[in-house]
Amino acid sequence: MTCKFCGKKVAEFNCESCGKLICTDCAKIELHSYGCQSVYHVAYCLDCESSFLVRLFKRLFIKK
Ligand SMILES: [Zn+2]
Ligand SMILES: [Zn+2]
Repeated sequence: MTCKFCGKKVAEFNCESCGKLICTDCAKIELHSYGCQSVYHVAYCLDCESSFLVRLFKRLFIKK
């Protein structure tokens, strides 16, 4: 499976948001702590990462 984003490297992650197969270069990994012990990671492609950050930014700074 090759990365759907760059088409060059081997895909190792699925984008959490759009489900695209992405390689380590094209993936943005978010670490989430779950409880106090376990940490899991969620991968986003670069497209979704930017929209994710936009959403996060809006949620944090724009109060409706
Ligand atoms: Zn890639
Ligand atoms: Zn995506």
